[in-house]
Amino acid sequence: NQSAFGPDKIVKSPYPNVEIPNMTVNDYVWQNLDRWPERTVSVCPVTGRGYTYEKAFKLSNSFGANLRIKFKIRDGDTVAVMLPNVPDYPLVVMGILEAGGVVTTVNPIYTAYEVQRQLQMSASKAIVTLPENVKTIKDALQLAKLDIPIIVIKTNGIAIPEGTVCFNELSEDGHVDTSVLKQVRRTANDICILPYSSGTTGMPKGVELSNRNIIANCEQINEPLVACHNETTATHQDSVMTILPFFHIYALSVIMFHKMSQGIKMVTLAKFQPETFLQAVEKQRTNVLFAAPPVILLMASHPASSPKTYEHLEVVINGAAPLSPGDAERFLDRAQRTMDFRQGYGLTETSPVVTMTPRGLGDYSCVGRALPNTELKIVDDRLNSLGSNEKGELLVRGPQVMRGYRQNPQANADSFTDDGWFRTGDLAVISEDGLVTIADRLKELIKVKGFQVPPAELESVLRDHPSVADAAVVGVPHASHGEAPKAFVVLKNNAKTDPQNIKDFVKERVASYKRIEDIVFIDCVPKSSAGKILRRVLKEQYC
Ligand code: AMP
Repeated sequence: NQSAFGPDKIVKSPYPNVEIPNMTVNDYVWQNLDRWPERTVSVCPVTGRGYTYEKAFKLSNSFGANLRIKFKIRDGDTVAVMLPNVPDYPLVVMGILEAGGVVTTVNPIYTAYEVQRQLQMSASKAIVTLPENVKTIKDALQLAKLDIPIIVIKTNGIAIPEGTVCFNELSEDGHVDTSVLKQVRRTANDICILPYSSGTTGMPKGVELSNRNIIANCEQINEPLVACHNETTATHQDSVMTILPFFHIYALSVIMFHKMSQGIKMVTLAKFQPETFLQAVEKQRTNVLFAAPPVILLMASHPASSPKTYEHLEVVINGAAPLSPGDAERFLDRAQRTMDFRQGYGLTETSPVVTMTPRGLGDYSCVGRALPNTELKIVDDRLNSLGSNEKGELLVRGPQVMRGYRQNPQANADSFTDDGWFRTGDLAVISEDGLVTIADRLKELIKVKGFQVPPAELESVLRDHPSVADAAVVGVPHASHGEAPKAFVVLKNNAKTDPQNIKDFVKERVASYKRIEDIVFIDCVPKSSAGKILRRVLKEQYC
């Protein structure tokens, strides 16, 4: 019964350190390819479209070669991917990595304004998408005054829009000399993934994740006491439900990179339609499911969710936002099945996993212990270390922590302490035996259904409204979404508008989950002497 707290109140992982292979993510993912070439890597349960590992490898190589030959993509160039979870997603991502590129993932329901910002900030050299997103991308490119190739996946035989390039032709096997990929010189320390996260404050920022960050996290979650994986053999292949979006690091890293290296089948669902999802869980004999709280809530309460749905389910891992333990218990009651139900906690900035509950813990309110090679610390607002069961900000040190935010020295100075600890912006407590419970969020970030909604982004949109002088946004609890954004707006003198007009203005400019439902008009936004919005004051006064 040793304490998890060591000298300086640092909490070390209880697990032995893991070795981090010195390679690139694409080499890591394909490392076991010859063991399961004929196995399905990805399949859409609705259309039946899918790929085997061998086919995916060949097509992604051709795509990568064409990115270099036709679009002059060079080592370190960024290529944007704006796709829902289609079975082609891994081919696109792996192709970009094989070409030496960096992948920035864009939410496929983003508006032109949101796409424009990410394309500009990431300096993307091309974008890969579906026909239905081409109009938004063209509008975004016009707003950004950019001209980059739009590469479109043809999914149903219908011609792709004018002025775009066909992904299927670029990835055709045997039509391009893939030896050009031998020119690629990427190392473990190079950046390979550039997702966007607002971090503790402000607008979304490019999170620089290296090959080493991602591979470290894949190896860390292979620790036997937290791992969830059955060996792929001639008679068995894990069937992993992929409803979490690949554009978020949770699915990209934990499912795609990690699980593909183990030969699993990804059942890709492009839309979250409850009946389709539940049917696919049953029909695709899903035995591993990575979920976020809205998925657990659905499985706990939907009329079509029954023991039959979960006949094959062995492992469920929740992450991305706070879980209601009651929902977890209701789901397990519904499933009437003993299964390995656990939680992970992490951030985009940590590739993403920091802690996981060990198998058999049966406690759904905590997020488990530090992964191998990971150290934790709880600090007060002056960064003094706190002890067990004391609430404070959670700090992390480990090989999965990002190199930093792209071209943002201020955000990096704010996010790392002088001795290299990453500040999560989450309030947590750690028990004497190392179990972490997330208590609250210190940072301003709002999470709606597990998706990031940065208040600063909504405030900037609100301030663009011709009648708005100033604005502040905070998160308020929401029964099914976890949180919802609530806006406080100061109108310009003599401005004539109403909340609906402002809501409509925001709706046009942001993805649906960021929409503001509740607007309160106030006389002035409370701010500190340094000009920082005092969100706590607003919450205490109005929420
Ligand atoms: P993201 O970068 O979008 O993955 O968001 C990271 C944030 O999501 C964390 O800083 C937490 O606030 C929250 N989060 C992630 N996983 C959990 C979890 N299991 N329980 C509570 N909050 C979580």
